[in-house]
Amino acid sequence: MQPSTPQQIHLADYRPPAYLVDHVHLTFRLAPKGTRVISRIRFRANPAGTGGDLVLDGEGLRLIGAAIDGVALGAGDYLITQAGLRVAAARLPGDAFTWEAEVAIDPEGNTALEGLYLSKGMFCTQCEAEGFRKITFYPDRPDVMAPFDVRIESDLPVLLSNGNPVGQGAGWAEWHDPWPKPAYLFALVAGDLVAHADSFTTMEGRAVALNIWVRPGDEGKCAYAMDALQRSMAWDETAYGRAYDLDIFNIVAVDDFNMGAMENKGLNIFNSKFVLASPETATDRDYEFIESIVAHEYFHNWTGNRVTCRDWFQLCLKEGLTVFRDQQFSADARSAPVQRISDVLQLRARQFREDAGPLAHNVRPEAYAEINNFYTATVYEKGAEVIGMLHRLVGAQAYRAALDLYFARHDGQACTIEDWLAVFSEVTGRDLSQFKLWYTQAGTPRLSAAWSMAEGQMHLTLRQEVPATPGQPHKSPMVIPVALGLLDQTGAEILPETLVVLDQAEVVIPFDLAALAAEAGRPLPEAVIPSLLRGFSAPVILDAPVSRADRLVLLAHDTDPFNRWEAGRSLMRETLLGMLLGGAADQAFFAAMGRLLADDSLDPAFRALVLALPSEDDIAQAAQESGIVPDPVMIHATRRDLQVAMGVALGSVLTQLYDALDPGPSYRPDAAQAAQRALRNAALHLLTLSEGPTRAQAHYDAANNMTDEIAAFTALLDIGDSDVAGRFHDRWQDDRLVMDKWFMAQISHAAPGDAVALARRLSAHPLFDWTNPNRFRAVIGGLTAGNPAGFHDPSGAGYGFVADWLIRLDARNPQTAARMSSAFETWRRYDADRQAMILAALDRIAAQPGLSRDLAEMVGRMRAA
Ligand code: ZN
Repeated sequence: MQPSTPQQIHLADYRPPAYLVDHVHLTFRLAPKGTRVISRIRFRANPAGTGGDLVLDGEGLRLIGAAIDGVALGAGDYLITQAGLRVAAARLPGDAFTWEAEVAIDPEGNTALEGLYLSKGMFCTQCEAEGFRKITFYPDRPDVMAPFDVRIESDLPVLLSNGNPVGQGAGWAEWHDPWPKPAYLFALVAGDLVAHADSFTTMEGRAVALNIWVRPGDEGKCAYAMDALQRSMAWDETAYGRAYDLDIFNIVAVDDFNMGAMENKGLNIFNSKFVLASPETATDRDYEFIESIVAHEYFHNWTGNRVTCRDWFQLCLKEGLTVFRDQQFSADARSAPVQRISDVLQLRARQFREDAGPLAHNVRPEAYAEINNFYTATVYEKGAEVIGMLHRLVGAQAYRAALDLYFARHDGQACTIEDWLAVFSEVTGRDLSQFKLWYTQAGTPRLSAAWSMAEGQMHLTLRQEVPATPGQPHKSPMVIPVALGLLDQTGAEILPETLVVLDQAEVVIPFDLAALAAEAGRPLPEAVIPSLLRGFSAPVILDAPVSRADRLVLLAHDTDPFNRWEAGRSLMRETLLGMLLGGAADQAFFAAMGRLLADDSLDPAFRALVLALPSEDDIAQAAQESGIVPDPVMIHATRRDLQVAMGVALGSVLTQLYDALDPGPSYRPDAAQAAQRALRNAALHLLTLSEGPTRAQAHYDAANNMTDEIAAFTALLDIGDSDVAGRFHDRWQDDRLVMDKWFMAQISHAAPGDAVALARRLSAHPLFDWTNPNRFRAVIGGLTAGNPAGFHDPSGAGYGFVADWLIRLDARNPQTAARMSSAFETWRRYDADRQAMILAALDRIAAQPGLSRDLAEMVGRMRAA
């Protein structure tokens, strides 16, 4: 049985809206079960549209009454369907009119966390992508932009909406947002909240009040997010010339939230996990996320809000660009090479995985059933890589000029990828039609390199191949920027970084080695070691026949830090694949690692990244790329063997690092201190695996911050400590965010054979609130993402457990259920037995009566041949 895939929407069918909106006025009479929303909307026929009926989106709304130009509508004057409301053109008074409506909605019954809902007594909204239609009847599409006035009536003390406050009294507040915006950027919050307040003065001299709103008791955990916000505001002024444009900027932290955060104009709403931090409760990694997500949402004010998307197919226009901007910001705020390596790790772990399976899609998709399913690693992370390539191709100066033109030309507009590329073509005179394939062809290109030397000449051959992906059997050659350098056999650089652009299936590039060596003041080399794809200049899989010996030279000497790390990474990957096939790790590799780890001239954060092993899923992916069927259980055991071997072989240098890198009693979340902890805790982990619990137990007892505490906790879990989980629980049971870590860590670090049983047990724990997305992700994601060997247990128990929970969650929160279903996207990698069991689980989900469009689309795509 093939599950039927839901109705699709196509980019090719885009039509401009029939009516535009000149102004919106909304009144909210808040009540948990029966909130009234009274709307007054000025419509005007779109000169670029086709006219006709007034069609408004609306879902789950009870219409109390409606009027046009003050004349009440009778039941025969409109048609209500599941999707919205229609007024026939003949009933409209002319080209411009005012629509008024009153609807009743049920925030308390809204478990999908989309539209207006309640979270612990606080009203809040989530409208992207199509949640506004659950609040009132409206043309809920991003190319309809309007200024909003909002009045909120409620007894709750804090009443917030977009824009500037214009009045407030007992039981009411009014807000005015002068900047035209699409409905997906609308937001409202009402609750018993307290503010961590500060201010910022823009380069234009505007004094902006800044507030981070949290529940009473959490106000002491906002300082870092505030600092990140102020730094983001300053950075956007310097790096992009963009200043903030309202008198107030509010951030609200919410416990029940489907994603990370949302860039609503002037009123960002955040998952509390990406706002609240104290040294005792948040890890260095949490601080890093807070910094980059605060930046990301703030940067949307220009890339997303002032210039928005014409339709949801253009999502990467705002998301890819905004991720690129937050990555630039983090690179400036911390270490650029470390940031680049982390971004590539993330890209490979999430986007390459997606691209290699049935969910592969274009950076700009061409069809969807449920747009929420396309907030993906491909749209976000690959979307950012595409902009990074553009940046590299045109250079920083032209990039800035193109962006200046983009903002000047498109401020207040809803745009497309064509508009975006046009500013680059105009500024640089380049033809970007081939480059545009990055937006319209899915799949990770494979780049292969080969070289030969003769008579002082080297010829480098670069070849590309783009694999077939669902719906795209044949691909054209793409524009691949390849940054490269050449080293001689001693590791001396004879060609400094150079950009080669591969825009055909194959190119051969000659290098005059004699001339290059002379220029570098070196003798003519006997052999050359190419350092290819420096800085990961394109999101491709590189196959290059660099020998192990040459990779050890790159690891020790490359001038490009990314490729230094990459050399170590590929050695480790190859070692692991070799061990899977019965081989062993070689001493030269350990020796090289030892030298690098002991090199105190290197950033400890960089050394920690070199020391980190590929994740189990990375190894499975690497196996798949080289045609080996991965066995998750064996991968887990092999990876553990290598960790223990590293602990033994590198024992003395790891012990030295552990002793030397203690940052002392006063915790700071900055990059320098975090780097020390990262390397020290990586050493602790390997030493615990090779030597036993003593050091980790002492580390746990001495920890004065969550980074150290969780490092010792997980190391102890890894060696089967049976009582540390109880101690952690007793200390933290009243802290929701810390308890998410408790659930997640135990399942992720369980022995694979015990993981499903433990997940089952923890899903019956009194603190397992499956209706809270963070907690659901902690437990179910702890298994699917945190413990792949447990999830892929040969019995199939993991698949059944996850399918049961996805079915249960789908009835309540389709968006999060669908998102988590991608745990199954890798099914084709595995052996026939596992494939059959995963397909059975998917079929069981597909057969559920009343399955959401979200989950039905995901399962249908994963199931498709
Ligand atoms: Zn975003």
